[in-house]
Amino acid sequence: MAPKEIQSESHSYDIVLVGGGSAGITTAAHLVKQLRKEKPNARILIIDPAENHYYQPIWTLVGAGVYPKEVSTRKERDLIPSGVIWLQEAVSEFIPHMNEVRTKQGARVSYRYLVVCTGLKLDWEKIPGLAESVGKNGVCSNYSYETVESTWKNIREFTGGTAIFTQPLPPIKCGGAPQKIMYLADSYFRTSGVRKKSDVVFCSAAGTIFSVKKYADTLNKVLQRKEIVTRYKHNLTALRTDVKEAVFKNLDTNEEVIMHYDMIHVTPPQSPCDFVRNSPLANKEGWVEVDKEKLQHVRYPNVFALGDASNLPTSKTGAAVRKQASVVAQNLVAEMKKQPLTSTYNGYTSCPLVTGYNSLVMAEFDYDQNPAETFPIDQSKERYSMYLVKKYVLPRLYWQFMLKGRA
Ligand SMILES: Cc1cc2nc3c(=O)[nH]c(=O)nc-3n(C[C@H](O)[C@H](O)[C@H](O)COP(=O)(O)OP(=O)(O)OC[C@H]3O[C@@H](n4cnc5c(N)ncnc54)[C@H](O)[C@@H]3O)c2cc1C
Repeated sequence: MAPKEIQSESHSYDIVLVGGGSAGITTAAHLVKQLRKEKPNARILIIDPAENHYYQPIWTLVGAGVYPKEVSTRKERDLIPSGVIWLQEAVSEFIPHMNEVRTKQGARVSYRYLVVCTGLKLDWEKIPGLAESVGKNGVCSNYSYETVESTWKNIREFTGGTAIFTQPLPPIKCGGAPQKIMYLADSYFRTSGVRKKSDVVFCSAAGTIFSVKKYADTLNKVLQRKEIVTRYKHNLTALRTDVKEAVFKNLDTNEEVIMHYDMIHVTPPQSPCDFVRNSPLANKEGWVEVDKEKLQHVRYPNVFALGDASNLPTSKTGAAVRKQASVVAQNLVAEMKKQPLTSTYNGYTSCPLVTGYNSLVMAEFDYDQNPAETFPIDQSKERYSMYLVKKYVLPRLYWQFMLKGRA
């Protein structure tokens, strides 16, 4: 059944979800299920201006030429759960003391309960030279639908030289994505025969390859086997595209380091959306400030948040959203019934670290960086079976189960 859509006006709802990405759709689906028996007439609204919804995790494989980019998208209208209303507008202001949000288009929407899940902002313009060059002249990025095809074009057409892959300061979505595409590019360069006349360089603002030792140990061996040069604590600060130079700041010495590139895959810096940062819901860094276990706002008990927009101190992934969504739904319903909030989130997140066209390390861990693995095998090993999970199982899990509140 097509969702009921409303026009820009003033309205009142039991639950308003701001953002209908991975977190918004999944949480709404869980809420509908939970309230079906007890409050079947609850009025639930999603506000999101987007025409299209993206399954971003597949962009790693799109950038490597495994899938066309169209597999990552569906119409937002087709994903709004039955029984939920959609307002296709952009929220511009949160007024939590009045239980109200306002949209750019002028609607005033009031709520009894609010869920904030607006994702984060890609700051292309923070790197001089990047915004105008990404997608052209050897500069590419998997981080947006508009640019992801440029990665595959660059990898496919690379004829040798220096290929640089960058990772900015945290937080970023999917901490492993900047390196996954590098391993795939390396594998492709070996097949196409250009690897012998190439340097593959990983320039990362971080100090190590991965935060969890169990997986970092394997990844360090992968780097060694693939003869990839690593430059840690190197933060990209500018691109001089006319001469194909990337400028880095060495975070240990504060020195400027200039490197020539023939292709460069850039992961842009990322930050909270401005309208979230400037709202009473934000912490001082600009993220929505919720309790890390209950996912309830620390100052406004009728507000919850999850996903990339939240301050949850875990790696920002869709896998994390999958676990957070059911906790938000259960705790929000408990709050509605004036009962104690008993559902807790332990920081679970997952990063399928693709290390080649047929191998993957399935990292899964919690707030304390302890492995929290699903399969009864050593997941720190590179495995073909886990690559198949990433390629075939996880997309199906997302579209057919997670977004329907069934996983
Ligand atoms: C290249 C790449 C690789 C990744 N790989 C993985 C992976 O392998 N595994 C994994 O689990 N995760 C991965 N991720 C991360 C994952 O996609 C995100 O963490 C996840 O989508 C977060 O969900 P979200 O709902 O918080 O944000 P999003 O899914 O980004 O949704 C945010 C929504 O908010 C809406 N919005 C924005 N502004 C407003 C506004 N003003 N008013 C109303 N709505 C608004 C947007 O339109 C959007 O629909 C990857 C991401 C990228 C980019």
